[in-house]
Order: sequence, then structure tokens, then C-alpha cells
Amino acid sequence: MIESDCEGFIADLRRQYEKTYPHSGMAHARAKKVLVDGISHGARTFAPYPFHITKAEGAYVEDVDGHQICDFWQGHYANILGHNPPVVRRRLVEALEEGIGLQTGMLEERQAAFGSLLCDAIGGDRVRFTTSGTLATMYAIMMARAYTERDLVVKVAGGWHGASPFTLKGVHRVDGHFDRVDSAGVPEATDKEIVVTRFNAVENLNEIFETFGDRIACFILEPCPSGVGFIPATGAFMDAARELTRKYGALLILDEVITGFRFCAGGAQRLYDIEADLSTFGKVIGGGMPLSAVVGRGDVMDLISEEAEERVWFNGGTFSAHPLSLLAGQTMVKYLIEHEEEIYPALAAKGEKLRRGIERVFADRGVLARCSGYGNDAVPGSSVGGVYFPLEDCAPFRGEEFIDPRCCDVRLREEGLKLGLLLHQVNVVHGLGAISYQHSEKDLEHTLEAYDAFALRMARERS
Ligand code: PMP
Repeated sequence: MIESDCEGFIADLRRQYEKTYPHSGMAHARAKKVLVDGISHGARTFAPYPFHITKAEGAYVEDVDGHQICDFWQGHYANILGHNPPVVRRRLVEALEEGIGLQTGMLEERQAAFGSLLCDAIGGDRVRFTTSGTLATMYAIMMARAYTERDLVVKVAGGWHGASPFTLKGVHRVDGHFDRVDSAGVPEATDKEIVVTRFNAVENLNEIFETFGDRIACFILEPCPSGVGFIPATGAFMDAARELTRKYGALLILDEVITGFRFCAGGAQRLYDIEADLSTFGKVIGGGMPLSAVVGRGDVMDLISEEAEERVWFNGGTFSAHPLSLLAGQTMVKYLIEHEEEIYPALAAKGEKLRRGIERVFADRGVLARCSGYGNDAVPGSSVGGVYFPLEDCAPFRGEEFIDPRCCDVRLREEGLKLGLLLHQVNVVHGLGAISYQHSEKDLEHTLEAYDAFALRMARERS
């Protein structure tokens, strides 16, 4: 089955989904009257409509139709300890009961204490907190441009760093290419000043630096980009990124918004044994609350100081270092550091079990499907992953191929598999997503049964 002939298969899944999730359908119809497309984030919807929830705990969410859904989206991959983990929730409840938490705009000692915890875990000199990953990457790029007095930003095809004009190019494949601006309304400079390299392609990166080296302000890179299917950067690509940026006087920005505290209790850069000039963090470090940070070299970070001669206006916003976000984030990060040895190997083992199991159930039904998210020479294992349906068995895949319909059946994954699994109360994103520490062996077994039911459905459709 390829994109062109899965129409009937997907239409059938939609009908069954509508029958199974009727109250979500009604809730979504109401939402559409007031919210554009009925949502507040494009990644939270899918056809025919997304389910609406009432509760969330650990590995599960409960929806308005009363289903208990095993969730692998987990707060945009933020909820590494599952939804509403008691260790964080308790601290927030206590704080609110003590009458503290909603008084944003003051200084409290927690800011510096949490800042130094992060710097120690990550390996930077100074930190500035902000509220979203998008803002963190945007400010990091502004700092790199000011520091180097150069214009160009190099990024990876398919790489996602949030929706700021500095990064909105080469995210999606347009007309077969990953070098187009992704949004209307951005300045012309977005096209001119962003150069897109292929992921894990050392030669391509070399060529870019040879061609534009003296104009490049920074290379911004995710150690394991979600947009290209959670394939970790190779050690060679990461080394090339570090060496080329140094050689040409550009800065290396590692965007660790997803990878920070996801692979170990620090940045994934530790696993590669390199240090970025600037790193951006979000998601996990907020403990479920909106919090992000730029961490980095003192001489670069000082550009945002009031004492800087030519200051980068990363001044902060109303909710920067919000007290409840800091409390949740500090509690989470401390917990992860203290329990690193039990949490991360267990998470990686769960990831391995699920990925191998998914490949096995599809293979047993005669369906060609592969998982991404496996470790490599630098990353020993991971709790993230995707599923793809290659048009031919051409693994190992390059990152961009994960989202390229010429190489794999993207629609079957994004629409078919998504709905097929939801019919068995399993919620995935890009075929899988992120496993939390709260996903038990039983949950993984149940999840594999759901994949198997989908594989059987596909096998029947093809016969
Ligand atoms: N960088 C990366 C690697 C991300 O995955 C994301 C969000 N998915 C962002 C930046 C933007 O973060 P936010 O959604 O918090 O603005």
C-alpha cells in the first residue's frame, strides 16, 4: 500500500474513530467555533479531530469518552516521569498552600540555585531563563550573530527549533526540497540568511563551511532531531560540527530542548564529549511547566548583560523564571540527577523493547516497517522513536527520508497508524513518540498488541 492507494483504508479508520470517540467529536466542533482549527498548537490535531481529555496521570490520559489512553506524546516529549508526577505535583501544591507561586516579577534565591544546578549538569558558565524553546533558540542565534558580527545561520534539513524567523527554513519538504522558507510573513532575510545542510552528512557540512565560512555566525543543531525521526547525530557529524565552527570562528548552538535530560541527567552533548558554545533547554527542565533556558560560555552570555557595549536585548519577559515553573523545574532536574542511574538505563531498555517489538509484530504479519530512535556510536540508547513504512527496504535511513513520501509512506504513519492505534487506546506521534518512566512492562505489552492489531489490519487490506 502506498500513499495513492491507502485512501479507502484511512477513510475506514476515520469512520471507526468517529464511532469510538463521539464526545471528542462534539467537543471539537464546539472548540472550532472559537479557536482557529479548534486548537492552540498545530501538532495537537489530526483528522478527523483530536480527542479531548479530562485527566492525565503517569502513562495515561482519560478522554471525554471515558477511554484510558496510553500516551506516548507525553507533553510534547516533556513529561519524562509521566503526566503529573507526584514528586513535582506535591511541591507545587505545598507552595500554593504556603501562599507562594503566582507572584511573578520578583527575585528569589531559587533562580540562582537552579541556574547553578543546570550549569553544573550541562557544563556552561551562565544561564538565562525564558519561557519557551522558541525564544531560547531565537535569543541564542541573536547572541551568536552579535558575537561574531556575522549574518548566516546554518541549520539541518527537517530540523525544528521553534517558529522564529531565524529558523523557519528547511523544516518541511516543499516541492521535493528542504531549502524553502516555511512560513508566510517572515522577513526576506529568513531565506537569505539561513543555509540548510543535510543531517549527518559531514561532506555537505564541509562544503557549506568552505563556501560561506567567513559569513557563518552559528550552526544550530539538535543532537537527535525529532523532525527527522529521532535519528541521533553520528559522532562524526557532531565532531565535524564542533571542529568546523571552531575553525571558521562561528558558534555551535546545540538545541537540547528535547534532548536535554532525556538521554542522561544533563545535555546529550555529554554523551558526545563535546561542549557547545551555547545550548538551549526546555521541555523536561520545566517539570511540566513552561520554562526554557539558554546556557553557555560566559563571554557570549555576557552580551545580554546591561554592561555589554553592544547589548543583545534578551531582557526577559513578564513570565521569565516564573516561580512555579522554577519550582517544578528545579524539583524535576534534582530528581533526575539524583536518580540518573536508575532512570536512564531503564528508559533506554523500555525504548529498545518497544522498538524491537514493533518491528517484530509488523514483520510477523509480513509488513515492512522500521523504527527509528536506536542508539549509535555516541548515544547508548533512547526512550524516543518513530515508525516508518519504507517503500523499499533501504535502511539505514537518512533523517530527511523519514518525512519524504518518495521514500516512505508518511501518510500511512501520520494518519493510518495514528488512528489505528487510537482504536486500541494508544496515542503516538510520528508513529511512536516518547516513553516515560511511568510506562510499565504491562503498558508496553498492551501497546505492542495495539501495533499488532494494526499490522494485521494492514496485512488483511493488502491480501
Ligand atoms: N527546539 C526543539 C528541538 C524543539 O523540539 C522545540 C519544540 N518542539 C523547540 C525548539 C521550540 O520549543 P517551544 O515549543 O517550547 O517553543
